[in-house]
Amino acid sequence: MQTTEKFTPLTSDDYKPLHTLLPLRTPLTVTFCSTHRCNFLCDFCYRSTIEKAELSTESMSPDLLEKLANDIADFDDKVGVVDVCGSGEPLLMPNIVDWIKLLKKTNNIKQLKMTTNGTCLTPKNAEEVVNAGLDLIIISVNGISSKHYKKITRSNVNFDSLLKKITYLYRIKKNCKLHIKCIGDYFSKEEQEKFLDIFSPICDTIHIDNAINQWIDIDLPTPPYKNTELSGTINRFGKSFEFQEKPICNFPFYYLRIHTSGKVSSCATNWKEEMIVGDSKIQSLKEIWHSKELNNLRLRLLEQENLPEKCHVCKYYEMMTGENLMPYRKDLFAKYAQKGVEQ
Ligand code: SF4
Repeated sequence: MQTTEKFTPLTSDDYKPLHTLLPLRTPLTVTFCSTHRCNFLCDFCYRSTIEKAELSTESMSPDLLEKLANDIADFDDKVGVVDVCGSGEPLLMPNIVDWIKLLKKTNNIKQLKMTTNGTCLTPKNAEEVVNAGLDLIIISVNGISSKHYKKITRSNVNFDSLLKKITYLYRIKKNCKLHIKCIGDYFSKEEQEKFLDIFSPICDTIHIDNAINQWIDIDLPTPPYKNTELSGTINRFGKSFEFQEKPICNFPFYYLRIHTSGKVSSCATNWKEEMIVGDSKIQSLKEIWHSKELNNLRLRLLEQENLPEKCHVCKYYEMMTGENLMPYRKDLFAKYAQKGVEQ
């Protein structure tokens, strides 16, 4: 069997073309950068390019977490996907279980997910995060042995112990889905096969992703392998797509990223807290979603004029798996321009 035939990509049945949903009253995806703490220094992460002493270990304050959960509850529709931590390692956040419970209590989220490297799992916190109400746990696997882990993450990982932890999580996870992935560009063909053999029996879905440099200002080291033939051709809605040259970036139309400081941007690429469209410490997320700042960014993207400097150098959106809004931009521009007038 071909390696790719063993893939079970993370897909959702809830697919509608993005242009038919716009303008959205509520973002489809919200990512909270709840903590900067991480026990790894992976080659493909911006953290690997920063001096260790300068790396932030900041987490969101309990007051801010409570305020943000209220903001999520306040949206007019359920938020499609909420990621509890999009920057550091969530299981290093002291109040991660409380944070999941707060978000779950809003009853205004379709899918509550956590992405973790799995190494800080214990039987206790595994049971706690599952019982707190996560719908999906994604484990990023960065090796098939302790030695392989050391090479990619520059950290000491006891691989056998990690396997036991994930096996336990799989056993107790109830209705929570467990997805496991690795980045193929750091695994040889043989290592990819081994990864699938080892992890397929202890997860619901499994995939080998491609490395994407999503950080605007950072040149990451070239990965040891080129994973082109495994390039994903299925997006998370199960639809096939093709890479498109210079599409309109669609992040600001469906996405919010809340940084550890509480500042908010609408694109996934910046770790320096740039492209800021609001501050959740003094504004509600709903206010920011409908703000003049964010609407102006959408209009500039649709016009493809006066684009922020960052958008000119950003490559991330070219690799996006979502819909290219280019064919609909005139109609969409009229709708978003009207929104500006209403404000
Ligand atoms: S194109 Fe601009 S808005 Fe889109 S992800 Fe890149 S920097 Fe952000």
